[in-house]
Amino acid sequence: MDLQLGNRRILVTGASRGLGYATAQVLAAEGARVVINARHPDTLAEAAARLRAATGAEVHAVAGDVSQADDAARVVQAAVAHLGGLDGLVTNAGGPPPGPFEAFDDAAWYAAFDLAFLFHVRLIRAALPALRDARGGSVVAITSISAKQPIPNLVLSNTMRAAAVALIKSLALELGGEGLRFNAVLPGWTRTERVTELLAYRAQQKGTRVEDEMAAQARASALGRMGEPEELGRAVAFLLSPAASYLTGVLLPVEGGSYKGLC
Ligand code: NAD
Repeated sequence: MDLQLGNRRILVTGASRGLGYATAQVLAAEGARVVINARHPDTLAEAAARLRAATGAEVHAVAGDVSQADDAARVVQAAVAHLGGLDGLVTNAGGPPPGPFEAFDDAAWYAAFDLAFLFHVRLIRAALPALRDARGGSVVAITSISAKQPIPNLVLSNTMRAAAVALIKSLALELGGEGLRFNAVLPGWTRTERVTELLAYRAQQKGTRVEDEMAAQARASALGRMGEPEELGRAVAFLLSPAASYLTGVLLPVEGGSYKGLC
């Protein structure tokens, strides 16, 4: 199947490592012209260089903190200017910190709101004019399986992910008439640095070893292992691509069978 991603102009935020990076790599390998974003210019430039070396594709870097309103808009504008338009947007960033409900004050909740919910709104709002011009513009939000099944000790993330998938479904319904598509992926446990950090926190809380927590989490999925970032990236690339032209409002779990519900 040809995903028809060749020369498509795509912005992936939160892409210096982890799921965003892997998604950018899959898209670039499919021939897309990709702009990647993360906060720190040096780390981001290194990531762009690695992607160019791995794929031979055009990869441009725009640094900025997408949890900040001004930066989110500026990142989109810079990507559109560089690419001469925009066919696809992948909204992704880091996750809120772990911890029990009573550890978080209002400031922590507002920060999580900016980082894990409002940034989708801001990026999509800024990108809409260019996505409309593109005809067939498409958005994929990277959220979490916690939108379906909350994860212990991640109350900030769990809450914001539910709002994010509601946003994506709403936009699919509201803007589908214009030919715009909005989908979300809901990753389960996928081997990234964030997961190592989260399981190190869990090990510290329980007095266990991080390797044991990694192994236990892997066993909890039907496939008996964690996902690889590229496996998530391939799902994003498909949903974003013209090959998925009749898919919108899809909230796709990519979690190796760790979610045990029926729907
Ligand atoms: P990660 O922390 O390894 O990578 C996050 C990327 O986003 C990095 O490139 C980082 O520099 C960038 N970033 C962070 N904050 C940013 C900001 N404010 N502005 C711009 N860039 C920013 O995380 P990951 O494991 O790749 O996960 C990506 C997202 O998916 C997170 O929100 C995470 O909570 C969620 N998620 C991950 C998993 C998993 O198993 N890895 C599962 C469910 C949900």
